[in-house]
Amino acid sequence: MSALSFFLTVQNNPFVVILSLLMSCSIWWGVLVIESAIRSLDHLNARKWRIWQSLLLGFGIWAFHFIGMLGWRPGFTLYFDTTLTFTSLLISILAAYSLISAFQIKAPLFSKSVALRSLGFTIGLGIMHYLGVFSAQTVPSAQWNFGWILVSLVLANLLSLSAVAWTQWKAQLSDLTKRNARLFVSLGLGVILFFVHYTGVIGASFPEGSFCINTAAFSTETLATVVIICGIILAASLMFTSNIEARIESKLQQQNLTLKSKTELLEQLLFVDSITELPNRNSLEQTLRDLEKDNHKQAHLIKILLVSYESICDSWGQEFGNKVIDLMKTRISEHTRRDTILYRASENVFEILSTKYISDLPIYVTKLSEHIAQSFEIDGKSISVGCQIGYATANSYGELTQLPSMARSACEYARRSSVSWLAFEPHMLKDTRDELEIQGRLRKAIHDSDFKLAYQPKVDASSGELLGAEALLRWSTGDNQFISPAKFIPIAEKYGLINAIGNLILNQSLAQQAAWIEAGLNLRLSINLSPFQLEQPDLVKTISLLLEKYQVPPTSISSEITESAPMLRPEITIEKLKKLRQLGVELSIDDFGTGYSSLSLLHVLPINELKIDRSFVQSIRTGSLPIIRATIQMAKDLRIKTVAEGIESEDEKICIVACGVDELQGYLISMPLFGEAFTTFAQNYKQQHEQQVSA
Ligand code: C2E
Ligand code: MG
Ligand code: MG
Repeated sequence: MSALSFFLTVQNNPFVVILSLLMSCSIWWGVLVIESAIRSLDHLNARKWRIWQSLLLGFGIWAFHFIGMLGWRPGFTLYFDTTLTFTSLLISILAAYSLISAFQIKAPLFSKSVALRSLGFTIGLGIMHYLGVFSAQTVPSAQWNFGWILVSLVLANLLSLSAVAWTQWKAQLSDLTKRNARLFVSLGLGVILFFVHYTGVIGASFPEGSFCINTAAFSTETLATVVIICGIILAASLMFTSNIEARIESKLQQQNLTLKSKTELLEQLLFVDSITELPNRNSLEQTLRDLEKDNHKQAHLIKILLVSYESICDSWGQEFGNKVIDLMKTRISEHTRRDTILYRASENVFEILSTKYISDLPIYVTKLSEHIAQSFEIDGKSISVGCQIGYATANSYGELTQLPSMARSACEYARRSSVSWLAFEPHMLKDTRDELEIQGRLRKAIHDSDFKLAYQPKVDASSGELLGAEALLRWSTGDNQFISPAKFIPIAEKYGLINAIGNLILNQSLAQQAAWIEAGLNLRLSINLSPFQLEQPDLVKTISLLLEKYQVPPTSISSEITESAPMLRPEITIEKLKKLRQLGVELSIDDFGTGYSSLSLLHVLPINELKIDRSFVQSIRTGSLPIIRATIQMAKDLRIKTVAEGIESEDEKICIVACGVDELQGYLISMPLFGEAFTTFAQNYKQQHEQQVSA
């Protein structure tokens, strides 16, 4: 009997056949919907849903099988053994579980683990089917057609592999395609299951005159009732299943929304400054990268460094600082032009990016810096914020992303040269690299205590008596060459190394002073202190401990600070300098007349000495003498001693001495000398001087 004739003959009720086909497709649709939902669930929930999926498939196939049986008219009334019928349900569920477990493993379709699970499903389905036939307990027993049984089993295996193939393939599809494709796949799988069943039915036939021996078992009518109940349960499950997909989808949408808003917030934090709401450094870098990608070549970047912002925050708090920044933003914005973007790149740095050529950049930045520096009032306090500007221009491909470092170098140069703005020049980048290299070597030198001190004598201007010495730092490069402290001290200050170096200097110079005292040399030793050292919280304590350690009287020590040093953070430094004075250490203002000092500091601070800078001594012939004279006079009025630095010639000495200076220092008296050499120099000098005096 062909399969076609089987369906078309009276042996099957056509209505039931169609119903079973619909049912078969619906079961698969339900199973595939759950499969999609499981992919979006967390691990714990997924396990529950796998069980639910197995129950739906197992129970569905079993019910579908019995609906098929219901439509079967073998020519006599069928009865089914209750125990065997329910055993077949259990086997169906186990077979379904075997297939479902193949969905969740991450093995390729044609792998051993998938093959085993697929085989489990096929065998389970076969057992379930023929147990159903067997449960009819007919006499004579059913006749088996092994050809059709094999076809049925092959189809069952094809069915399971197709289902697994879909679960693996669907991951590559978009949501919409997935949903449409799922409908067709459900139909396809439903049709295969349908043929699995009906080919299986052809595989077992009953000879003429067969009848069921156990008429007390399930009759066809009872089976019809059971199947109707099963159908209702299945329909309810399918409705529930479609509902969970809708629920999961809305949950996913919600999650997506939350994720989107979180991503937006994160982007906001990453690319926008929270105080000014201006784009930040990340945003600037991103814009430059984008411009470069678009093959844009020309742009200017102007970096504005607000000089006293940190001191303002330290003195009046962060909230006050924020108000200042807000005001600065307004001021700079007032000066930005078309095609420019203003960024707040860091705490005290604004940057302006212009994508159009600005022909009058020098005039523009001059006006900008003047505008920024104008004083203003916040919370009743009158303040002005200075700035240093560095700008750079990109003219060719590849330069755009270099703009930040170019502008940074220019700004750094402006800061060091104490000018309000500078344009980038290529040597600046090289200097920055050199600076980084020196910084690295400085760290090593600190570790190895590779510094030496040279001492330069200071003598009484009128008597010529040797009064003291200034300790000057020397850092050898190895081949008897020295890097000037004027070059490496600012680098040490910039990279936070000055305190470590300063402590080494203090230690060495006090040890030297102790040795001189021991050798009978009564000298006052001057030690240079960096403004950054004055910020060191335990500076006074360190000095007093060292004085104690080396048994050096504090009055034999003088600390030289540049006149702008107390201006960094006046409250803190003035307090510290006063404490040093209380300790007995003398205070000297170095390079007087060269920095931005406030003359009022002279009577605020307990100063002992003013050092007239070498530049004034060098320019005596070109008119600096009245300034020197006035400075010495002012110091005398304030009862402050004066020292002239850098005396190189007899002429300079005569002029300066005539102005009434107290002490002299310079190459004319002696070059700076290392410890031993200085001791010998000092002993000889003293001897000669005493002889001159007695003569
Ligand atoms: P300074 O404290 O004003 O030191 C005087 C500088 O002038 C020294 O340069 C000295 O060698 C030089 N000098 C002295 N007499 C003459 C002269 O007759 N003619 C000329 N042309 N120069 C003369 P040096 O040693 O290169 O130091 C430069 C600066 O480095 C110092 O200026 C000081 O600001 C800083 N410095 C030096 N040693 C230290 C230190 O131990 N600690 C700190 N923080 N800074 C130091
Ligand atoms: Mg000095
Ligand atoms: Mg000096």
